[in-house]
Amino acid sequence: MTSSEIPQPLVDGFGREHRDLRISITDRCNFRCTYCMPAEGMVWQPRDHLLTFEEIERIARVCVQRFGFDSIRLTGGEPTVRARLPLLVKKLAALGVDLSMTTNGSTLLANAHDLWAAGLNRINISLDSLRPERFFELTRRDELPRVMEGIRAAVGAGFDPVKVNVVVVRGSNDDEIVDFARFGRTEGVRVRFIEFMPLDADNQWDRDAVVASAEIVAAIHAEFPLERLTRDHDPAERHRYLDGRGEIGVIGSVTEPFCASCDRVRLTSDGQLRACLFATDETDLRALLRTGADDGALAAALATTVAGKWAGHGISNVNFIRPARSMSEIGG
Ligand code: SAM
Ligand code: SF4
Repeated sequence: MTSSEIPQPLVDGFGREHRDLRISITDRCNFRCTYCMPAEGMVWQPRDHLLTFEEIERIARVCVQRFGFDSIRLTGGEPTVRARLPLLVKKLAALGVDLSMTTNGSTLLANAHDLWAAGLNRINISLDSLRPERFFELTRRDELPRVMEGIRAAVGAGFDPVKVNVVVVRGSNDDEIVDFARFGRTEGVRVRFIEFMPLDADNQWDRDAVVASAEIVAAIHAEFPLERLTRDHDPAERHRYLDGRGEIGVIGSVTEPFCASCDRVRLTSDGQLRACLFATDETDLRALLRTGADDGALAAALATTVAGKWAGHGISNVNFIRPARSMSEIGG
């Protein structure tokens, strides 16, 4: 390897080194979770705006080879609705990164094994209620049994640990926090509780609907005593059960933001690069890709975007501005 091929860290103006790429591969979804999408009326990206697998792989390769990225997560929308997903997984796995995916789990019974065989290393499955009627209210789909089968299929395929993401919303599912802790201990999955963020398409977010991570940890600790683990780059604050039966994570994006250690950039399904989930501006990599830009030009666009990254999202500031696009359009 010559010195020009040695990866140079992608550092922003606050000294944060970026090594994690989140790729949304579709804005479409087979669910309509109330905290994410409206029941009807989402306007999808035209098909020709979606990056092809080759375009996605090219941007990922620039991130890995030029900047030493070591982690890639696939998301959406619902990534498993994209046709021939194992093919993309295979292409990205060949880059030698820690490759993971966030999914609603509804198709995993059919495809967990293929994804594992294609080289996917880790999987997070979203599940916000263990009660069938409430699951239906929250997702507007009657698919709890399929998601449960999907979780077990992921465990059976070899993913370890399988993480289960729970978005906790006050007055909606906050009475299931301890049930979810028990579920994680019984099923051998790692439950991660996520604070509700102002990224819902219906613009219903309200600070009073946020259940703070500290409150979630306290509720579980009262039933199953916990001990806090030291933090790394994982946005989840981790706590292990004192009886040794696994651990939980809490993601306090609103009440305990982890912006100071953020190491990620995001690529939307239509090829827009974002330095932050809450960024109000984007860099059009699709235009660069489709007008013959070489890898140097793509790397320069990445470097400029990251150089301009802000210190933090400032959700709690009075002048906070919600991004124009919602969670499923950006990629969670
Ligand atoms: N469809 C996949 C899923 O649900 O796992 C992947 C995309 S989804 C946008 C990624 C994650 O964002 C999920 O864990 C979901 O629960 C979470 N999410 C969506 N809207 C959210 C919101 N307003 N606040 C917090 N988390 C949210
Ligand atoms: Fe779809 Fe995931 Fe959004 Fe639910 S959270 S509507 S499954 S993208």
